[in-house]
Amino acid sequence: MGRFREGHILRGARLFGRAILLRCPRCGRAQVLDGWFGVRPHCTACGLRFDRGEPGYFVGAGCLNLVVAELVFAVGLLAVLVLAWPNPPWNAMLYAGIPLMVLMPIIFFPFSRTIWIAFDLTFRPAERGDDMPPGGDR
Ligand SMILES: [Zn+2]
Repeated sequence: MGRFREGHILRGARLFGRAILLRCPRCGRAQVLDGWFGVRPHCTACGLRFDRGEPGYFVGAGCLNLVVAELVFAVGLLAVLVLAWPNPPWNAMLYAGIPLMVLMPIIFFPFSRTIWIAFDLTFRPAERGDDMPPGGDR
């Protein structure tokens, strides 16, 4: 593995690690969120505009949130079926599955935002126009 490729993998791991901690994926020095459901307009440490100035930027984060919720349900369903076959606990699965499907997107919501930013920065590194200009709205 070349040095170039290792650098990319390390950079990606750093971006996603910071995202999982709900910190700015680019610098890791400031929080991305303003409450559980709010995203700050920009990083207070490095100035990265979290929506990169694009309307609808977080639609991808919504899709990611949906996919994760569905995957958690599908993997859980499969695991219970495999472990309990031939007598799966259908009623317990129903009563556990419904709240899980309601709560999972709420729990994962902030992570979907920060992971989406990290994903975007991985493939499209920040450019000059992505930073809040000095004195922008501070
Ligand atoms: Zn930052």
